[in-house]
Amino acid sequence: MKKSTQYIHAGAHPDPSTGAIMTPIYQTSTYVQEAPGVNKGFEYARSQNPTRQALEEALAIIEDGKYGLAFSSGVAATDAVIKLLKPGDEVICANDMYGGTYRLFSKIFQKFGIVFHYVDMTELNNVVACVNTHTKLIWAETPTNPLMNICDIRGLATIAKNNGILLCVDNTFASPALQNPLTLGADIVMHSATKYLSGHSDVIQGALIMNDKALRDELYFIQKSCGAVPGPMDCFLVLRGIKTLGIRMERHSQNGAKIAHFLKAHPAIQKVYWPGFADHPGHAIAKDQMKDFGGMISFELKNDTIETARKLLSSTHLFSLAESLGGVESLINHPASMTHASIPREERIKNGLSDTLIRLSVGIEDADDLIADLDHAIQSAVQG
Ligand SMILES: *Cc1c(COP(=O)(O)O)cnc(C)c1O
Repeated sequence: MKKSTQYIHAGAHPDPSTGAIMTPIYQTSTYVQEAPGVNKGFEYARSQNPTRQALEEALAIIEDGKYGLAFSSGVAATDAVIKLLKPGDEVICANDMYGGTYRLFSKIFQKFGIVFHYVDMTELNNVVACVNTHTKLIWAETPTNPLMNICDIRGLATIAKNNGILLCVDNTFASPALQNPLTLGADIVMHSATKYLSGHSDVIQGALIMNDKALRDELYFIQKSCGAVPGPMDCFLVLRGIKTLGIRMERHSQNGAKIAHFLKAHPAIQKVYWPGFADHPGHAIAKDQMKDFGGMISFELKNDTIETARKLLSSTHLFSLAESLGGVESLINHPASMTHASIPREERIKNGLSDTLIRLSVGIEDADDLIADLDHAIQSAVQG
């Protein structure tokens, strides 16, 4: 079945009790049993919920995997993956990943004795150099947030396979419509479903997708034992969001390309970070492993100061100043003071994330209106 059909039909079965075409929101904590231990496969809603089950089935199908698991947030999904490990185990991860992932690794799991190596993952050799007998997991994110670096998923998968290490890819920025890490050799795909999967900025949720049954069973055991499960209403919202994922990502990508080119040609702009440019260092890999380049763009102004950046950030009308991304509406963000403030400044600067970097989540509005909004805000900022 083609992708655009899967988005509409994945996980959707008419409700057995009424024939309702949309999966109902099963707002229940428990299920009545006919006799002790005799039930319809549902015992307690932390362990099983039909709305969540429909979503988990849909997640697996659209990510080209066998099994899906939904969590109460993206970081709860990441948390579950790290709980596969034990003290002394080592993880190789990127030095410019999502700030909340860095916080979870460095502030929570490090104190339980898990060792994290932060490397520039655009170079596979940096990953190979960190592998030792304690390495259990490679945690990748591509494109990265917010510098739009690309890492080679196939190359990482080869390193992982050769050394008996798991590879988990945070696929939030690309979404399943633009990139499917399992088909490129990853063992687990992680999503913040809060972003493109839901697509409407109205839910917090996370997801894991995998092919291996034993790995699925282990992660399911963590999901139910630790309890970071999403509520049925949130599952319903993500199921609804998935139906338009294909056409939304097409439009995000079209608008993203137009805006990236507009910014690149603008005399007041110093640098634009977008993997669709032929001179982006990861362009060839992005072109190979992604279907399109999406709606995430970062940029810096010429002669940039924190004041000019601040002025720009408060001068847009259509782009709302907010954290998060992946909704139908356009957002503008200042990573150094917002999404990535939890990373120490020296670390940020060392990894190329300047105090003046601006990140856009380009929505699905009319591209000309978005460009006019940015043009006006850049003008106001550079005129002081
Ligand atoms: C938002 C985000 C997360 C965390 O997800 P939450 O749903 O906010 O918990 C992880 N990775 C990336 C790339 C994100 O953008």
